[in-house]
This record gives sequence, C-alpha cells and structure tokens, in this order.
Amino acid sequence: MEVTVVCYQCGSALPVEVSGESLQINCGRCGEAFLLKFSKPVRGDEKVDRCPVCEGDDFYLRKDFDPKMGVTVIVIAIFISGGFYYYGLDLIAYGVLAGAALIDLAVYRRLKDLTVCYRCHAEFRGDYEPLAGPFDLHTADELEPEYERTVGKR
Ligand SMILES: [Zn+2]
Ligand SMILES: [Zn+2]
Repeated sequence: MEVTVVCYQCGSALPVEVSGESLQINCGRCGEAFLLKFSKPVRGDEKVDRCPVCEGDDFYLRKDFDPKMGVTVIVIAIFISGGFYYYGLDLIAYGVLAGAALIDLAVYRRLKDLTVCYRCHAEFRGDYEPLAGPFDLHTADELEPEYERTVGKR
C-alpha cells in the first residue's frame, strides 16, 4: 500500500511506500517531520483501519481521479472542435466535444476507489478492501478542526 501524507504546514503531498512498523519522514518542502505508525492491516495491504499520520479511524472513499487530466482532454477537444467549427463543420465539432465527454466518463468509471483520512487528508492506494463510506460533509466539519487543533494550526 502507498500512503500520501499531506503536510499540514505547507500542503505538500508526500507519497510514502508502507514498510515496517513505523517510519520517520520529513516534508521535502518545509522540513516538517512526520512519524508514521503503520497498523498490521495497513502493512499487509488488507484494509485501512487506522491512519498512520494522525491515528484517526474515520475515512471516506473517493475515485482516484486526477482532475487535471479530465480538464486537459476537454481543452484539447475544444481546440479541435473550434477548428471544425471555423470551417463550417459544426456537426463534426459537436461530435468531437461529445466524444471527449465520453472519454472522460469512461476514464472515470474505470478508476479505483481511494481511501482518504477525514482528519489529515492522507490518501491510501493499494489492493486492500475499500470499507469506508462516501464523503460526508458533516463528519469532515467535525474532524478536520479537531486534527488542526492537535497539530496546533488553530
Ligand atoms: Zn511541508
Ligand atoms: Zn489521518
């Protein structure tokens, strides 16, 4: 399993391969130190039961989607269809746009679920069983400030 730690000082994403029981890492940008403690199921890539960063046990699932990639497909399609439109080929122009939307949809469907920690926003990628529920704003509103208080941001 791979854990992406989110630095609470500068917001950098720090990908870490899970190995051993604990691991000390430093943020590459601001130098903040993190001591990660991996639970047995996390080490075995079985499930995400406890967050190695904040030790919280509240998670949600989201699709592992890079929004930048989706936007790139649409932007390229707009350029191409703009060219067809210029030459009066509107039907082809609309077809290109519709095709790009379909590509985005197909990519989105094939994506795997990703577990995210409500408190510290750490992300977990692996072949484990995704047990968490979908994102719940109410839970996030309660747990995020709690974590920010423990790391001294509020
Ligand atoms: Zn940092
Ligand atoms: Zn966490």
